[in-house]
Amino acid sequence: MSPVSSLAKTLIRPEILALHAYHVPDCAGLIKLDAMENPYLVPQPLRDEIASVVAAAHINRYPDPNPHALKEQIRLLLELPEGMDVLLGNGSDELIQLLAMAVNKPGAVLLSVEPSFVMYKMIATFIGMRYVGVPLRTNSGPSDFSLDLISTLDAIHREQPALIFLAYPNNPTGNLFSHDDVRRIIDAAPGLVVIDEAYYAFASDSFVPQLTHYPNLLVMRTFSKLGMAGLRLGFLVGSSVWLEQLEKLRLPYNVGVLPQLVAEKLLENHGVLLQQADQIKLDRAALYQQLVSMAGVEVYSSEANFLLFRVANATAVFNGLKQRGVLIKNLNGGHPMLNNCLRVTVGTPEENELFISALQDTIHQTV
Ligand code: PMP
Repeated sequence: MSPVSSLAKTLIRPEILALHAYHVPDCAGLIKLDAMENPYLVPQPLRDEIASVVAAAHINRYPDPNPHALKEQIRLLLELPEGMDVLLGNGSDELIQLLAMAVNKPGAVLLSVEPSFVMYKMIATFIGMRYVGVPLRTNSGPSDFSLDLISTLDAIHREQPALIFLAYPNNPTGNLFSHDDVRRIIDAAPGLVVIDEAYYAFASDSFVPQLTHYPNLLVMRTFSKLGMAGLRLGFLVGSSVWLEQLEKLRLPYNVGVLPQLVAEKLLENHGVLLQQADQIKLDRAALYQQLVSMAGVEVYSSEANFLLFRVANATAVFNGLKQRGVLIKNLNGGHPMLNNCLRVTVGTPEENELFISALQDTIHQTV
């Protein structure tokens, strides 16, 4: 062992040494349907406007540490009531970390369900917080991956979590949990409940209107899935009492000059982004129908911009798709409930067609 690696082994915390870094595959030359991105750029005239805003930006200066105009745009879009505030993050990943750091007293627990967004558990590990994952239900049929309310309430009573994350819709399963079950969880929780609405633009329900009813509720969203993944902009909304405390942990310049300006410009044209989301929802329905009718594929219904499906040999199918130029996400081996599962992001109609024909071809070859 080299002197550097032996020093690293002594210095770095064992739980960090045991982690695998978040893997981002090389996508050069591939149709990219692996990361829940919006496949569309905004129209050229709007891109030209963005170009002039960027050209005039004062990138020699630090960003505005508290961008009022951008936060006001978000307040208006969400119709936030008085007493509610907005906290901006460098992606919502950063907000998960701020929340966990804020409540991580000795012995504190972060609770979520499984399978769900992997960063809840990873961030708990990063900061040395205890993580509890309650399995979702796996009965086959429409209740697949629904909340197991009884086990979740039991775990809440037993573990008294300081922080609960529920992705609504859930990633990587795509389903929206029962609204009433989520309410029961918020009622029972002794600590904060964060409803992670990363996929809100594609879903039929939201907890934003419930913010005034529950003192322990916060809603987190991101613009990543709406066409701004490259900007890294997430936000948390809820009572200013909570956000004032979290604000103290936020690094002063976490959202750069360019993301602030470009997001403002895009949100002035929010309708364009929502139209794209509507198109994606239509294409999701078409893609779902094609997968449902395909032999050897079991597809789950989704309220997000991706579909989860199961095949006989997910890794072979994943590799076969890649050889045919299509990159999706292989979830096999990530969690026992996701054995032989793959996740495809809804792309443009042309990309979806290419994916379907590559999938047909691959499944045909692998059986
Ligand atoms: N929450 C959920 C449920 C997600 O799926 C993702 C991204 N995959 C995020 C949060 C993080 O999004 P971002 O950091 O891009 O805002």
